[in-house]
Amino acid sequence: MTKNALRQLPSVDRVWRALEARGAVDAYPRALVIREIRDAIDAARAGEAPATTAAGSREAVLSAIAATVEDRLRARGKGGPRRVINGTGVALHTNLGRAVLSEAARQAVASVAGGYSDLELDLTTGERGSRLDHVEGLIREVTGAEAALVVNNNAAAVLLALDTLAEGREVIVSRGQLVEIGGAFRVPAVMAKSGARLVEVGTTNKTYLRDYEEAITPETALLLRVHTSNYRVIGFVAEVALDELVELGRRRGLPVMEDLGSGALVEFAAHGLPSEPTVQRSVRAGADVVTFSGDKLLGGPQAGIAVGRREVIARMRSNQLMRALRIDKLTLAALVATLRAYLEPGRAEREVPALAALLAEPTALAAKARRLASRLRLRAGGLGRFTAEPDASPAGGGSLPGVELPTWVIALEPAAPAAHGMTPNEIEAGLRRADPPVLVRVSQGRVLVDVRTLAREEVSMVVEAFAGLAPAPGAGETQ
Ligand SMILES: *Cc1c(COP(=O)(O)O)cnc(C)c1O
Repeated sequence: MTKNALRQLPSVDRVWRALEARGAVDAYPRALVIREIRDAIDAARAGEAPATTAAGSREAVLSAIAATVEDRLRARGKGGPRRVINGTGVALHTNLGRAVLSEAARQAVASVAGGYSDLELDLTTGERGSRLDHVEGLIREVTGAEAALVVNNNAAAVLLALDTLAEGREVIVSRGQLVEIGGAFRVPAVMAKSGARLVEVGTTNKTYLRDYEEAITPETALLLRVHTSNYRVIGFVAEVALDELVELGRRRGLPVMEDLGSGALVEFAAHGLPSEPTVQRSVRAGADVVTFSGDKLLGGPQAGIAVGRREVIARMRSNQLMRALRIDKLTLAALVATLRAYLEPGRAEREVPALAALLAEPTALAAKARRLASRLRLRAGGLGRFTAEPDASPAGGGSLPGVELPTWVIALEPAAPAAHGMTPNEIEAGLRRADPPVLVRVSQGRVLVDVRTLAREEVSMVVEAFAGLAPAPGAGETQ
């Protein structure tokens, strides 16, 4: 910053008074406000945001800093993570917390959170129990597996499986399956952490059974198959089916693992969607261990589930890592309640919000979008023209790659700048700052709200968020 610009920086006291005049300080602890003011002044001095401080007048600098502090207080003051409204239509959005929990799961969490529980106590004998006893039988029943365990997430389940079955030895994987999920989970990196050595076979698009077979050495500990849950290779493609790999494993005395990732427990193909491998199918194919996430297509809390042969799961359970990766009581309660919906055919599709959103009928979505559009025209018509129209939503969150689900959106074509219109990006940012925040898409100069991911009670909040941005009726006419 230049000397002249440095002189423009306000004191902490001046920023405080400016914020006080805006009524922006009352809701927050004084120490927090002061800390945010100091940080904003320091950032301006260091030549960082806010941008206007470089060249602005004293007043402009003051108001830019005050605005920054106000934004940060609003974002931090309430603590987080905060509830937001997902108008993107992406049912499993990793940045938005993936699966919304079912009513039963929410109640189970609240009940366990508010008191003591029999987490590791057998109430019939009064003896010490295992937290996994609450869930293992249920997972076995739903998936058909001999045994099951649960850890923090699927990345942890994969780490635990590799560490248990292949530490210091070789694991054979197809080059076409070396996936990266969400920028943080990479099969080769997890493998390295577990101490197993990766042996890549085949090519990016084609891998045959003989490629695995030729790579087997006395050092081989495991044959691994990874479901490419967030991408699809199209064109000339060959991968080895799980049952063929299982047959090879049996013949050569090697265990076979499948990292399924998305972990569907219902047949999506039966609902007119592209087929997604189910956990039950992988278990039936004879995999020794199958791992998957609790918060993708299963629709539960963040968790990693491993199912498979009794002896393999028992070895994983007695691994020391298990203690570091174990799930807490809230997750366990939510998982058990979510899984119970899968015990009766058709119930999970109705009660698990992620499934209900993914399987929503376009006709129902159309009706919801039309109702929302007409309420928006009434309450926020000043923002521009609202229409309801068909569109497509991606499934997201490492599931159903490439699948576009037919959906309905409300589209807002903003009023022209001459009529005091806001730009689509200004509207998007305004909705993001609403309380609760509403997340939407901007596409081709329009603001889109996909109704697939709106819960019934959220529709009115969306209307209020738009209304909060709309000019008051008649505001344009007095100018
Ligand atoms: C999502 C996914 C993971 C990571 O699972 P988390 O539950 O996010 O840790 C690992 N492998 C595959 C194939 C996945 O799809």
